Amino acid sequence: YLVTFEGGEGSGKSTQIARLAAHLREAGRDVVITREPGGSPGAEAVRHIILSGMAEGLGPDWEAVLFAAARADHVSELIRPALERGDVVLCDRFHDSTRVYQFAGRAGDRSLMQRLERAALAGTYPDLTIVLDVPADIGSERARRRRGNASADRFEKDDARIQDERRRAFLAIAAEEPERCVVVDGDRPVDTVAAEIRGLVDDRLEA
Ligand code: C5P
Repeated sequence: YLVTFEGGEGSGKSTQIARLAAHLREAGRDVVITREPGGSPGAEAVRHIILSGMAEGLGPDWEAVLFAAARADHVSELIRPALERGDVVLCDRFHDSTRVYQFAGRAGDRSLMQRLERAALAGTYPDLTIVLDVPADIGSERARRRRGNASADRFEKDDARIQDERRRAFLAIAAEEPERCVVVDGDRPVDTVAAEIRGLVDDRLEA
């Protein structure tokens, strides 16, 4: 069972993944936590290339190709084997982040987006996607606090207007695919959000 967590910077994805994993493990399930870009050695190498800004000159389409290459490796090396063992896989960002970060808000080639997505996933789509929704300014402030003195990566530097466009793009995906995606209000206490997510996942795993 593959659950992906999506949302902007500071929306609480990693905190909520850790909470959900603890709950599922207590219930006796085998859980794999992973993240994108990255999650397998090949994909982590590509993550470094992308987030350091080394390949910034490529432009968005070729950058999307790098993300797709990382995802293909991650899916085939880590996610699919785990699903085949019957584990629950919790992934911090997945293909919806590419739809939003590499393709939303630009006239870009949607057919390129679809082709890359299909090739990288090769049929391994999430069973459930939790979209953690927080206002852009709150997410940015949380991300800033978490970073402390560390410098922002390329995408965290983007301004509030862009962060807000991304928030809307995640909500639009959720509206288009209501059977896969659930929007969870992330602007509440951690425990409240965790309880809601636990309920959602338990219901689906038992169904
Ligand atoms: O999840 P996290 O915030 O650590 O993601 C690392 C960075 O990669 C973020 O700044 C995110 O915006 C960016 N990213 C991206 N496109 C993706 C996935 C992540 O631009 N498909």
